[in-house]
Amino acid sequence: MSAGPDILRLMTDLFPICRSITGAGARETLGILKRHIPLEVHEVPSGTRVFDWTVPKEWNIRDAYVRDSRGEKVIDFRRSNLHVVSYSVPVRKKMPLAELRSHLHTLPDRPDWIPYRTSYYREDWGFCLSHKDLLSLEDGDYEVVIDSTLEDGSLTYGELVLGGRTKDEILISAHACHPSLANDNLSGVGLATILAKSLAGAPRAFSYRFLFIPGTIGAITWLALNEEKARNIKAGLVLTGLGDPGLLTYKRSRRGNAAVDRAAAHVLGHASPAGRVLDFSPYGYDERQFCSPGFDLPVGRISRTPFGEYPEYHTSGDNMDFVSAASLAGSFAAILEILDILEQDGTYVNLNPKCEPQLGRRGLYASPGAEEMALLWVLNLSDGGHSLLDIAEKSGLGFESIKRAADRLAGAKLLAGQAPERSS
Ligand code: ZN
Repeated sequence: MSAGPDILRLMTDLFPICRSITGAGARETLGILKRHIPLEVHEVPSGTRVFDWTVPKEWNIRDAYVRDSRGEKVIDFRRSNLHVVSYSVPVRKKMPLAELRSHLHTLPDRPDWIPYRTSYYREDWGFCLSHKDLLSLEDGDYEVVIDSTLEDGSLTYGELVLGGRTKDEILISAHACHPSLANDNLSGVGLATILAKSLAGAPRAFSYRFLFIPGTIGAITWLALNEEKARNIKAGLVLTGLGDPGLLTYKRSRRGNAAVDRAAAHVLGHASPAGRVLDFSPYGYDERQFCSPGFDLPVGRISRTPFGEYPEYHTSGDNMDFVSAASLAGSFAAILEILDILEQDGTYVNLNPKCEPQLGRRGLYASPGAEEMALLWVLNLSDGGHSLLDIAEKSGLGFESIKRAADRLAGAKLLAGQAPERSS
């Protein structure tokens, strides 16, 4: 499985780009993704009303720096795009340190890291720098330049639909609006891209919709423009923070017990080490919008360490050294397993329900162990009222072994399959 290195390579290509919720960085990012998957790129004009929100002006930046009285650049956007507060309005001004200081953001607790800050919905400007660098600034006048534009333009997002046997959809969504930050959320963007690539070549019961959107406003915009399509979403995952060394964490949808919630809890419960499952809360990433009460979509969130629980979050510490191919590969495998359960879960009926059938006669006798237990559980609970995932949960066995047992029993004509209930 080369998914880990593939995702890491893609993230490395995307890392240097200065992304924001709109602008050239978003387009450049989607342009790179298009080399891997046939993404459709949408442009939604500034000023478009999307529910209670408005698509903002488009932000672009060419350069930014702060120069001291000796002419030396003490803060330079070209060294790190985190140095400029995202959505900073243009500035070209001389000012004393005391005035400049109110526009500087640092992390005193982590004096070597540059914080990541935004000013999307309030016209402002600012610079972010390491606390160590702030302490080295001397009194005097500074030349402050932010060569940016904030003008009518559009919000850009990428979308890919892979058709399946039914119109029922699985949504995979990743926010793609952060500048040079690796785990949050190039890991999600990279993983979703490689996932789309691998699903494209596989037979699918569900259709899959991939969204690469700016956080919050992107999800709101998509939902506002696609209310009808949203009804086809039968399961979904918001992908974020999948490359750090922490345990896998799944956050349930607002419904709490949707198929995707159960599938994810099953996979994380059987992972080693086991992952964490959190209940829904109305905070976090775009699950907030997908799970708003007017939509209440069965969309959960999968990550490793949740945001805010690792110090590197939203700082220059979240760089390519913080993520690994091994973590990404593990996340990728877990997500594939969750999707596999959604694809394969179904309800069967035991055709020989009066006492146990003789397995040995049918070549099904296995040495006592998990394999035999799986056969017995499937036979016993396949009464038309328990799905394979129900049986996996009751038995404590992995879905995969339950599914394998069902296939063997169906092959021996001891089980009749019922197609999974899906609207077509
Ligand atoms: Zn973030």
